[in-house]
Amino acid sequence: MSTQTTPSAEHLLSVEDLFVEFHTGEGVAKAINGVDFSLDEGETLAILGESGSGKSVTAQAIMGILDTPPARIPHGRILYKGQDLLTMDEETRRKGRGPEISMVFQDALSSLNPVFPVGWQIGEMFRKHRGANRSDAYAEAVRLMERVNIPGAKQRVKAYPHQFSGGMRQRIMIAMAIALNPKVLIADEPTTALDVTVQAQIMDLLQDLQHEHNMGMILITHDLGVVADVADRIAVMYAGRIVERAEVGDIYARPGHPYTKGLLESIPRLDQKGQQLSAIGGLPPNLTRIPPGCAFHPRCVMARDICRTERPELLEIGPQRSSACHFSQEVLDA
Ligand code: SF4
Repeated sequence: MSTQTTPSAEHLLSVEDLFVEFHTGEGVAKAINGVDFSLDEGETLAILGESGSGKSVTAQAIMGILDTPPARIPHGRILYKGQDLLTMDEETRRKGRGPEISMVFQDALSSLNPVFPVGWQIGEMFRKHRGANRSDAYAEAVRLMERVNIPGAKQRVKAYPHQFSGGMRQRIMIAMAIALNPKVLIADEPTTALDVTVQAQIMDLLQDLQHEHNMGMILITHDLGVVADVADRIAVMYAGRIVERAEVGDIYARPGHPYTKGLLESIPRLDQKGQQLSAIGGLPPNLTRIPPGCAFHPRCVMARDICRTERPELLEIGPQRSSACHFSQEVLDA
């Protein structure tokens, strides 16, 4: 992947009007329906939503790892340093995975190969992309294992994934992802399977590495609690669209969309003593049959007639923030 910039390279990464659909036995699942966002160096954007909201599909589209078919990208651009990844040949994209854009996957146990030592798997990045020999690749693996705070890295570089705890395996995944100093790191639910203490350690590690390398980071999560201290901006997704976009402090202080408000009310907050927790009723829609109007209307406590017929656009509701709700001002004032 070339690092050449063009006049449109205003941001490190920008996703423009992206659509992704899956052709299934049940019909066409409209997984992403016109998503736009950008990411700059050193910045963390959290993409938040329930399962099926389209956040992981967005990440896979950026990485170029969607299976096509069944996936299809009928429209959109993904500009990395001004170049559209979607029009690049596969070989160029493959070479960019690692040194330019890299990803930490959710499930380290199934993402790591159980039959190879972890050091071999970390070292593969250097053998494949840098032509390193076996012993240099192992030396790099030890260095990276030390960097992600795996105790006894030298002794454990030839151990297998099942010999590590869940938190340590996630550190190994992170070591692989940052091995070639990527400019963009996508972390897809990096702490979901871990207990709260280990979650906090992993998030701290990701933040440290981000500052060290000035990476742009996209943090994908269903948990608003995880992103409060880490993200600069948040994009909330529902049924394949961004329904609210704002700086992190604004979202927590004054959500501008009923869905975001519902998500916030479902997590315990240290700043709100005696708070009643409540879950959003109902389930996310089947993506082959997204409801007309506002896709959230069957679950929204504020829904009115217009919501069932007219789709709200994502409109500015303040500095650096937008919301796709006919009544976002009411939500802000509530
Ligand atoms: Fe709720 Fe209507 Fe706003 Fe959709 S447009 S979030 S249904 S109030």
